[in-house]
Order: sequence, then structure tokens, then C-alpha cells
Amino acid sequence: MPQHHLMVEPVLALKDNYVWLFKTSAHTWAAVDPGEAGPVIHHLDSLGETLSHILLTHHHHDHTGGVEALRRHGVARGYTPLVIGAEKDAHRLPPLDVAVTGEQRLSLGDLEAEVMEVPGHTLGHVVYRVLDTLFAGDTLFRFGCGRVFEGTPEKMWDSLSKIRALPDTTQLCAGHEYTLVNLQFACSLEPNNAALQTLLTHIFRQTDMEQPTMPSPLGEEKQYNPFLRSDDPAFAKNIGLTGLAAEQVFASIRKKRNSF
Ligand SMILES: [Zn+2]
Repeated sequence: MPQHHLMVEPVLALKDNYVWLFKTSAHTWAAVDPGEAGPVIHHLDSLGETLSHILLTHHHHDHTGGVEALRRHGVARGYTPLVIGAEKDAHRLPPLDVAVTGEQRLSLGDLEAEVMEVPGHTLGHVVYRVLDTLFAGDTLFRFGCGRVFEGTPEKMWDSLSKIRALPDTTQLCAGHEYTLVNLQFACSLEPNNAALQTLLTHIFRQTDMEQPTMPSPLGEEKQYNPFLRSDDPAFAKNIGLTGLAAEQVFASIRKKRNSF
């Protein structure tokens, strides 16, 4: 039977970044957005396994800072991980072995990744879908989304809408553990939303025990993530933005979140 579900390993890096690891063959792994090398090396060496691929979603240092050290570590042990990122940002990413352009498929050992372009947080931001799993970088977070640094709110809304069209069962693996504060922000927008309050109790407990709050199903984001609900008239009404277009609702709550 073909494999549908991807097993992933979240590795906490820097302050609140996740480097997501998954197996590309029996003894090789891929690392997504290694902001630092140490925790990834520790994981691989403890298993006696190697790194075949490094996937980069965008150029920010907290997502790329470990690439060079991982490459050096590999070469010293006789293997060279392939570094994959967007051609559009090749000038500001670590040296790429595979520069992806537009929507395309990539082979990763025994697996295949689908690349989607999602400008907004940065102009060259891409996300990767492998089996049922989405590596969303700083575009979509659990209950939140990335800051719009380089694109426009319209562009970011388009990108998030593209992600929202993926199946509900997609498991979300984002670049940061921002879940608690994102959910607190969602609750502040809709203090009477009982479902959000119930989720908050659960997330408080998980965060308290220092458990990762992802992977989590995309279906839950479609239901509860305020940014993905920007085109829901009932939601707009709830937060006092009746009649505004989705991009305007999105821009308004993104601005509020920036100062939350
Ligand atoms: Zn970023």
C-alpha cells in the first residue's frame, strides 16, 4: 500500500523555531529550515543516520543559519546534503544545489515534494508539501500567520487562500511555536467564542508541559484561525468589520496582531 502519512520530528532551535525532520529513505533524513545545526546534528548522530536534503522556505536567518554547518558536518562524514530553495531568492539564501522555480515537484529520496509559491512574509517564500504534510515556514502558523514584511496584505491573503484549499487532513508543520500567543489573540478578537476558549485550555496545558503543539490538522485552522476566516461574513460581523472585503478584514486583523 502506498504511504500517505508522513512521520515528522520537530526539533526546537534558537528561541522558538522548529526545524522539521523527516525520513527520505531507510537511513537518510531531510531537515526543513535549519536555523541552527547543533540540534539537528545531535538527532542524526544519535541514530547514526545522515542528512540527504535541506529544504528552505525563505531567506530569514532563523531559518537558514545552520545550513553551512550542516553541510560541513556532512562532508566531514562523507555525505553532502542537497540544499533546496527558491531561485527567486538565490541571491540571499545559502548556496543552493536545487533552485526551485514556481510550482513544481521535487524528488526527495523515496518521496516527492510539491512546491507552492506563497509570497507575503517575503516575496520568495515557498512551502513544501510532502505526502499529507505541509511545511509552512513563516506563512501559516497554528492559529496565526506570518508578518507581511515584503508583500502586500492582498498577496498574503492570496497565499493563505491557496494553502486553505489543501485537504483538511493536511498536517501543519510551521516554522515557529507561536501557538499560545496566536490563540490568545484569536480569543481577544472573539471573547464569546466558546470553542476558542476550550482550545486555549488545552494549549495552555501543552505549552506548560513544553510539548510541541504541531503537527496539527489544517481543518482546524480553517475553522479557528482568524486569518483564514477573513472572508467569512459572520466572523467579520463578530469583530465589527461587517461588509469589508476579505483582504481588508485580513489587513485589519494582521495590523492588530502586530501590536498584540
Ligand atoms: Zn521569517
